[in-house]
Order: sequence, then structure tokens, then C-alpha cells
Amino acid sequence: MKVAVLGAGGFIGSHLVEHLLHQTDHQVLGVDVTDEKLANVDTTGMTFHLGDVTKSPELLEEAVASSDCVVNLVAYANPSLYVTEPIQVVDLNLHGNLLVVDACRRHKRRIIQFSSAEIYGKPREGETAFIEDETDFTYGPVHRQRWIYANAKQMLERILFAYGTSGELAFSVIRPFNVIGPRLDYLVPAGTLGGPRVFMHFMSALLSGGPIHLVDSGTATRSFTHANDAARGITAILEQPERANNQAFNIGNPSNNLTIRELADRMIRIYEKLTGTRSECEIINISGETFYGEGYDDAGRHPPSIEKMAGLGWTPKYDLDTTLTMTIEHHLQHADTSKAANAS
Ligand code: UDP
Repeated sequence: MKVAVLGAGGFIGSHLVEHLLHQTDHQVLGVDVTDEKLANVDTTGMTFHLGDVTKSPELLEEAVASSDCVVNLVAYANPSLYVTEPIQVVDLNLHGNLLVVDACRRHKRRIIQFSSAEIYGKPREGETAFIEDETDFTYGPVHRQRWIYANAKQMLERILFAYGTSGELAFSVIRPFNVIGPRLDYLVPAGTLGGPRVFMHFMSALLSGGPIHLVDSGTATRSFTHANDAARGITAILEQPERANNQAFNIGNPSNNLTIRELADRMIRIYEKLTGTRSECEIINISGETFYGEGYDDAGRHPPSIEKMAGLGWTPKYDLDTTLTMTIEHHLQHADTSKAANAS
């Protein structure tokens, strides 16, 4: 199969490309506005186009027309932006992505569209997991702008579903749950408020000795998924259109579920073990609105049900300690490299 990966230069994209090129026989056409994260990936055999498919109709047409299936990873996924740049979030995550959907419909190409675990909204009491075809979506009021991202993703999913049921387009939707791993990016200066993502905030603090902020006391829960598990999951969906078409799948690891406070403790413990030094990070409780801005609304998250993915023969392989250790190790090596470069 010839697979167009839109967003190939991003974190998940780079892991998907690596997996497809080295573990399968598929051909890969990568497109992205950057290829930075592909720098240390062996991309032999991949064709890559630098550019923005949401701004260049020619590039989009060519990528879609010349492939058998499109994996669309193009998105902003950054809770700070949801409250500070809500229109930008809708422009890309809904309007920009609809251009891709439309091209796939016109060229009769299958699309695998990335959505988000965020689409489930707030966890409801009495439920223990987010289940693709059962869970109701529960969001906050309109002034809680955080939910604009989830709403944009929901609208995108609903349009795909409408095209799917009318027979105009074959699609699969993926709802990823907090994917982390080597090459995860966005180190931030010590003490930074807002911005993506919790692992990177804590990693930045560990590297710089800065404070670890626990938003709303760190009681929210998340399930962390290794990027390689995610890449295998996407591939399982890609390779089984007859079972995966016209529906949504959670990709996540319910066994790797913990509170954000527990995440901070675990990361500190692993960091200390790997470096042999004690973390000096102060742990500070902070409100969601102070950390992210007005309009933020925090919510715990149920772990994903992964029964549907198990039906495709996929289960996650990486436990929490392994996932955290590999991601922290990557940043320790990266930090050493930049220190060495500065010294020379
Ligand atoms: N969070 C935190 N401290 C930080 C960054 C994030 O306590 O420095 C919390 C955030 O409020 C949320 C969780 O960690 O409850 C996960 O945030 P992330 O940015 O990773 O994205 P999300 O899973 O909400 O999309």
C-alpha cells in the first residue's frame, strides 16, 4: 500500500513513519511543514514533501491522488492554545482538516483521521472507561473555551461519519490517549506556565531544577501510551480496512493510568535512578486558570476501553515505567548532547 502520512515530521508521525518503513512493506509519502524529528530516523525509501497541505491545494491534491490511504495527523494539540487562540484551533483542527477530508472524498481514498481522547470531555460518575461507541460526550459551558478543541474534533468526526454512512468516503478515526516516548518535544524554560504538555513540563523542571506545577493539585488522571504502541495501533487499523472502516478506535494503555501527582512522583523517582542525583524541584500547586489562562477547565479522564483495538489484534506492550524511562532517557541524552555542543 502507498500511505500518505500528513504530519510525518511530528512526534507521532515520526514514530509511524519509522514503523511503516522498517516493520512493514508499505511505501510512505511523508508531508509536513518540518522534518526536524525525522533527522535521526532512517527514512530510506520515503518520499518527503515539505509544505502545508492546508495552505497548498496542489500539495494536498498530489499527496492524496498518489496514495492508496491517507493518515492525517495534522493538528494543534496544546491546551494553552485552546484558551488563548481558540479560532486558530478551529481553523486548523476543523476547517483545515476538512480540506483533507474533501480531497480524500473526491479522489475516493481511504482516510485515517486523528481525533483525540479529549473528545470524550469530562468523565461521568458511574463509568469507568471511555468506550468508543457508547460514551456520551460531556463538555463545559461556552465560556470554558478549553472545550473548543474537543468540539472541533467532534464536528470533524461527525462529518466523517456522515460521509461514511452515505458511502461517499471510507474512514477510520483514532482517539489517542496521551502518547509519549522518545522524540517527544517542547522543553520549556523553568517555571513556564501553560504550553504543551505535562510530561514535557515535568521533564523540563527535572533538567533545569525548576518547579513542578501541579494544576488543581494534580488530581486529574491520564493514561500514558508509548509512541511505538501507537504506531503499531495505527498500522493495525491501516491494514484491516474491512474491520476498521467507518468507525472510531481508542489507542491508549488503560494499565498506564495514574493521577498527575503520581506522574510527578514517578518521574522524579526514575530521574533520580537514571542520573544518580536527587531532584531539587519544588512542587507547587496552582489553579488551572492561573496556569493556562481564563477559560481553562480541567477534567480527569477515564482510561480508554481498548476492546475494539483488541478485535484488530492490537494490545499495548509498554508498561508505565518502561514508557517513562525511555522518554526520560531520550531527554537526558539530548541534554548531554547540547551541553557537550556548548562546551566545545
Ligand atoms: N498539568 C499539570 N502540570 C503541568 C502541565 C499539565 O498538572 O505542568 C496537568 C493538566 O492540567 C492536565 C494534565 O496535566 O490535567 C495533562 O495535561 P496535558 O497538557 O499533558 O494534556 P491533556 O491530557 O489535558 O490533553
